[in-house]
Amino acid sequence: MRAVVALMLLAAACGRGAPPEHPNILLVTLDTTRADHLGAYGSTSAATPVFDRIAKEGALFESVWTPTPLTTPAHASVMTGLYPPAHGVRNNGRMRLPAEATTLASVLASAGYATGAFVGAFTVSRPFGLANGFQTFDDDFGTEKGRARSERTADQVAARALPWLAKAADGKAPFFAWVHFYDAHDPYVPPSPYAERFRARPYDGEIAFADATLGRILNALREAGVLDRTVVVVAGDHGEGLGDHGEATHGLLLYEAMVHVPLAIRAPWVIPAGRRVTGPASLVDLAPTLAALAHVPFPEVDGTNLFVEGATARDVFTETRFALEEFGWAEVSAVRRGTMKWIEAPRPERYDLVADAREAENLAGRDRNADAALRKALASISTTSSRRGTRSAAAALDDDALAKLQSLGYVGSGGTGDAASQAAARRDPKDALRDYDDYLQGTEAINRGDDAVAIFERLVRSDPENPEFRLRLGQARRARGDLGGAEASYRDLIKRYPDFYLAYRRLSALLTGEGRTAEAVALWRALQARGTRLVGVEARLAEALLADEKSEEALAAAAAGLKSSPGDAELLVLGARANERLGHDAEALAGYEAALESRPSDLGALDGAIALLKRLGRREDAAALARRCVDRSAGDPAVRARAAGI
Ligand SMILES: [Zn+2]
Repeated sequence: MRAVVALMLLAAACGRGAPPEHPNILLVTLDTTRADHLGAYGSTSAATPVFDRIAKEGALFESVWTPTPLTTPAHASVMTGLYPPAHGVRNNGRMRLPAEATTLASVLASAGYATGAFVGAFTVSRPFGLANGFQTFDDDFGTEKGRARSERTADQVAARALPWLAKAADGKAPFFAWVHFYDAHDPYVPPSPYAERFRARPYDGEIAFADATLGRILNALREAGVLDRTVVVVAGDHGEGLGDHGEATHGLLLYEAMVHVPLAIRAPWVIPAGRRVTGPASLVDLAPTLAALAHVPFPEVDGTNLFVEGATARDVFTETRFALEEFGWAEVSAVRRGTMKWIEAPRPERYDLVADAREAENLAGRDRNADAALRKALASISTTSSRRGTRSAAAALDDDALAKLQSLGYVGSGGTGDAASQAAARRDPKDALRDYDDYLQGTEAINRGDDAVAIFERLVRSDPENPEFRLRLGQARRARGDLGGAEASYRDLIKRYPDFYLAYRRLSALLTGEGRTAEAVALWRALQARGTRLVGVEARLAEALLADEKSEEALAAAAAGLKSSPGDAELLVLGARANERLGHDAEALAGYEAALESRPSDLGALDGAIALLKRLGRREDAAALARRCVDRSAGDPAVRARAAGI
């Protein structure tokens, strides 16, 4: 390894004896947080004193890209140091990071670290493989109006993280904690007093609230006397369009508003205060950088240790397959070399980010050599990363399985696996924004309970090959009571896109609602037979089998799912229900209890356990279990109601 820059400079100034050989690491990811909405990046209206102080006391990285503006894949990159073509998680809600993947948490855990994660949203929860290497993984989002929630606020995340950190700070082993705040994601509804203070700018209010909560965590570490022996790293997972280039949120396009993320690292014994790094960097650099700061070896990956000379003189890459997988539009990727940016799309773009920070003047086509050099740089990163992915997948799979996955386009890619050569024929997402807006409005109409059939009929006419438009048309028809029309929409969609998970999900719900349980089972079996690695197939199959009263098979499906997603509360509950029907009361109880261990507010598990214990005449045990869940869920109202009702 080349000369390490800046390391050890301040060791003497530390004041607490020798610098830590294996420091603690606190990684905080701020979902959906644009760099330019933080004070440290020049925003004058931001209220982010905590982030700004970390940057001032450590290093601020000025030009960091997310590898993709999508939560699950971006976090998979943070944890593995790999770009999405290598780790294979290229869209939200579809693919799981394989259990064999080497993650920062797994490497640190093997080196003796205590590891704990506390996440704010379903998109980074256990089913997506991000729990890899974490001894504690807290993704219990609690309930609202008696139903499971899929996100929680920063203070709720902190309420779980703080006791763990207090214990870890007292422990002999160093700790690695990952804390994820989802607040800045839309809808923007900051709590008081941020709601009042940021009435006109609620997005900034959410960021201010997350920043203040981060401050509480840092204070706790300071009071425990470990802050100056802890690497504190705070990063955004992607930005937010807020209307920039026509995108309101994130995922579709790759302009700076969506891909430029904040990153600050504080480690006072090695990083001099006030350091500013201007060269391009990526979130894939975090895992190798943090492993190096912890003096723990990390495998060769796409990212690099940011404190090695030349680290920020490299090209960086970003991509999104959201438009391709959901809408059948073109995938988009981009490369940054120095200050130049190339966006590869049916209508490519080139920008000089210093001369034209707003990306208003597309330079593509004006200098063929400059275009070609960037295009080549992009292809080189993407190819290297894909090869890396195929190699690691090959190491984890037997030849048959690998060949099968490759034939389906699932190795080194996430979803439909279309050839790049087809990309040019697809719609450029930036040219489809009007349809995209109508789609978003139609979806809101469905969610409000309004009739949206006309909107989606128009969209399907405008873009007949678009899977998401057809899916929503089915939903709108179902909402109108036209079950036959909805079923026809879904079946047609599955015929066209046999790996489109949401179509299976909607059709299965429709069939189950009509009591056609055997047909729902057949549907999931058909998807499974395609060799799919889509997340959730086993759970949905187990659920369908339970509805169809096939308990043995349901148990097998749940067990198969638990193999790739150990500790998954939903699968544990499905398995427990199957066991209960088969008369295996002890196994059923163990399953419910294991589910409550990972999610104390899981009402399916709690209701199952209470009913089972009551049936066995163990009312006292049921009451004790419910009380434990009340404590562990910080008094979740629905859990409290269950406990009171025993
Ligand atoms: Zn996100």
